[in-house]
Amino acid sequence: MSGEREIPAEDSIKVVCRFRPLNDSEEKAGSKFVVKFPQGADENCISIAGKVYLFDKVFKPNATQEKVYNEAAKSIVSDVLAGYNGTIFAYGQTSSGKTHTMEGVIGDPHKQGIIPRIVNDIFNHIYAMEENLEFHIKVSYFEIYMDKIRDLLDVSKINLSVHEDKNRVPYVKGATERFVSSPEEVFESIEEGKSNRHIAVTNMNEHSSRSHSVFLINVKQENLENQKKLSGKLYLVDLAGSEKVSKTGAEGTVLDEAKNINKSLSALGNVISALADGNKTHIPYRDSKLTRILQESLGGNARTTIVICCSPASFNESETKSTLDFGKRAKTVKNVVCVNEELTAEEWKRRYEKEKEKVARLKGKVEKLEAELARWRSGETVRPDEQVNFNEVSEAVTPVSAAMEESIIEAPKSGPMPATPALMIGSTLGVEERQKLELEREKLYQQLDEKDEEINQQSQYVEKLKEQMLEQDELIAATRRDYEALQAEMNRIQQENESAKEEVKEVLQALEELAVNYDQKSQEVDAKNKEMESLSEELMQKQATLNTTTTELQQLRDVSSHQKKRIAEMLSNLLKELGEIGTTLGSESSEIKISNDAAKLEEEFTVARLYISRMKSEVTNLSQRLQDIENKEQDSNRKVTEYEKELGECKLLISQHEARVKSLQESIREAENKKRALEENVDALREECAKLKAAEQVSGASESEKKEANELRVALEQQMDQLTVAHQKQVAALRDEIAEKQQLINDIKDSNQKLSLAQQQLQSDYEKVKSEETEKSHKLQELIATNERREQARKDLKGLEDTVSKELQTLHNLRKLFVQDLQARMKKNLSSEDVDEDGGSLAQKQKISFLENNLDQLTKVHKQLVRDNADLRCELPKLEKRLRATMERVKALETALKDAKEGAMRDRKRYQYEVDRIKEAVRQKNLARRGPAATIAKPIRSGQHHAVSITGGVAIRTGGTPTKPMDESIKRKSLIMDKD
Ligand code: ADP
Ligand code: MG
Repeated sequence: MSGEREIPAEDSIKVVCRFRPLNDSEEKAGSKFVVKFPQGADENCISIAGKVYLFDKVFKPNATQEKVYNEAAKSIVSDVLAGYNGTIFAYGQTSSGKTHTMEGVIGDPHKQGIIPRIVNDIFNHIYAMEENLEFHIKVSYFEIYMDKIRDLLDVSKINLSVHEDKNRVPYVKGATERFVSSPEEVFESIEEGKSNRHIAVTNMNEHSSRSHSVFLINVKQENLENQKKLSGKLYLVDLAGSEKVSKTGAEGTVLDEAKNINKSLSALGNVISALADGNKTHIPYRDSKLTRILQESLGGNARTTIVICCSPASFNESETKSTLDFGKRAKTVKNVVCVNEELTAEEWKRRYEKEKEKVARLKGKVEKLEAELARWRSGETVRPDEQVNFNEVSEAVTPVSAAMEESIIEAPKSGPMPATPALMIGSTLGVEERQKLELEREKLYQQLDEKDEEINQQSQYVEKLKEQMLEQDELIAATRRDYEALQAEMNRIQQENESAKEEVKEVLQALEELAVNYDQKSQEVDAKNKEMESLSEELMQKQATLNTTTTELQQLRDVSSHQKKRIAEMLSNLLKELGEIGTTLGSESSEIKISNDAAKLEEEFTVARLYISRMKSEVTNLSQRLQDIENKEQDSNRKVTEYEKELGECKLLISQHEARVKSLQESIREAENKKRALEENVDALREECAKLKAAEQVSGASESEKKEANELRVALEQQMDQLTVAHQKQVAALRDEIAEKQQLINDIKDSNQKLSLAQQQLQSDYEKVKSEETEKSHKLQELIATNERREQARKDLKGLEDTVSKELQTLHNLRKLFVQDLQARMKKNLSSEDVDEDGGSLAQKQKISFLENNLDQLTKVHKQLVRDNADLRCELPKLEKRLRATMERVKALETALKDAKEGAMRDRKRYQYEVDRIKEAVRQKNLARRGPAATIAKPIRSGQHHAVSITGGVAIRTGGTPTKPMDESIKRKSLIMDKD
């Protein structure tokens, strides 16, 4: 530490023993306290069942945590800070107090165990140290379970491998190293590791009792003045329970686990046994990962303290004994400790110089010795005072061997044991062979390590895949759940829909039934109405017939009364006459006369009938003719209208033509006027010409004038000629025009002629048709009149006929009666009296009563029908209401269904979105996990605790994980302590 070279020292493993108090269950079970602590000042003795064990320290059950720490662990802090490696591990059966000793209750000043106290102490020491030292502290935390190393600071690392560094010191490759700058950060890491451990397992108690937890503190320091670098590793191990499997009653996998744990513990035991037995050539460190990690701690370069934890209860006596035996064995193990120093070039140079000096000295001595030897060999005796002083020689030799030893430690070193075993093997095997074997073993070990690494990577990959699979499974499960829920909802909705549909169907059916019923009823009503109508019609008819019958009756009564009167008259006359005849002729002749009268009447009647039938036939003929005539009239009317239309068109044409003719005549007149004007013009010119000729003849004397006149004449003639030509041309053109126009006029005249002819014809036709029509209408009128007359006549005739027939009937009856009466009278010698009046009216009465009955019935039926109708009408609004309600319900159900469907769709979308989001998040997480990260090493400098330095730098290293983002607060936190 102080710059002086350290000499590797042999140092046996320190073993302390701690007994916990009897716990509640042991006390309840009545376990006895079976250990005794013999009185002594050293407190290093313990006896159980008469057997005494000696340890470096024995802690009684009442020993406080502080005491245990101070006496068993405190010294390790200064060792580590001095550049030594250190190890403290707790060994013992489950619930013997290992965790209590190592961890205790972190944060509790009394109950906290070794680890928190060490952490606090390390930092306190640093704060109290020289100011020119800079510290880098990093921690790792992992557990070994079933011979697999799982990183507790990174759950993804589940099967780390153990490798050897360049100095051939094993280390856990890839374990997370967290740089810390305060005890709080260390505790945070411990807490994190513990929580990770809890998350990973189901039964924590069982798990912790079957796994080894390893907390590693790595302290590196650099002297800023002389660049001397020291490093110390401190392993704090809480081992798995050391109890025998049989005691836990484990089975199956648990048994496997126990075997595995026991395997690592028995490997530990074997290593310790091998080390204790100093003659063993091979130490089986490689039997388990635990022993490999603890290789340096067991017989290597480390100050090791084993805390063996025991229960004092009789129940655990055998376990306690075996634990104590283990401790006893471990106590014999020797370690070779030295400072882990990284030398600077200057240091090396200094050492080199020293060594050179030493070599020179030794050389001198060797020479002296050789000289002495030569003297001895030559038979001389060397006087004792001349002999070489061997004390001097050994003084010189010791440092040499130490230096050699040290170089072995600093250079790649394979452990503390090679000297003796190598020599021993060397005695039996050749040196070359031995070296070959050694090399081969090294190679194999390297291969083993590589394989280990491969396994680690594969298992990590497997774990990752497992995790992914789990996530996927979870996702699938969630999705399935969602899907099921949705399905259920959908089913429910469908069911609802189905039921609603059924309801609707029922309602529709009911409605249909109702409609059918209604139809039936309405049909019935219609039928009834019709019936009623027909009945009422019938009734009316009957009424009418009744009326007519009553009038007839009245008439008949009148007639009959009239007839009676007449008959009475006649009878009186007849009686008178008959009286006269009876008196004159007797009864037989009168009878003949009466019969004669009847024959005559009948004859007359037949004649009348004939006449009537003739009239009938005539009437039918007439009506037929009338029909024909009417038809004809219609035809002619149609024709007339057609002709009129044609006529109108023709008239229009004619008027057009006339207008054209007029315009043509006007143009002719104009042309003539022009012609006349031109002729007049010609005449005037001729006149002038003649005048000029005359003037020429008169004034022929003067030559000059003549000449002048001649010229004038020529000019005039020329003019004349021109005029005449133009005139002639004009005339010819006009003539042509006139001829053309004439032609046109002629044509037009022709067509006019034709049209007027056609018009005349049409007019005449029209007249004819009109006259025909009037004639026909006359005829029709006449015919209608005659028809009416005929009709009237027929009616009259019918009435007459009826009356005649009635009269005839009555007459006939009367006659019969009369004859009967007469006969009766004749038989009773003319003692005849009244005539029955009511004979005819009885039948009528019967008829009337029958009709009245009928009428009654009809009225009843009518009333019934009206009632039915009213009932149906009453029912109708109810049914309509029901129908409306049903329709509304159907609509509501439909909207509800729609809503539900929409809701379901929305839900589904939302779920889809959620699933996507989760997937995305998972992906992001996976990505983030793979991403590289920088680790910030926080240098700690010795000196004041809470000083703030702005110059404090940070060392950055890749591959680790930063505890916190590097910001101002961290810079402040990085402890660079200055004394002023
Ligand atoms: P292990 O880790 O060996 O399985 P624990 O450390 O968990 O055992 O101890 C088991 C129980 O015994 C714990 O409740 C602990 O508090 C208690 N215990 C252990 N040692 C002591 C002691 N020295 N004093 C008081 N209680 C103790
Ligand atoms: Mg424990």
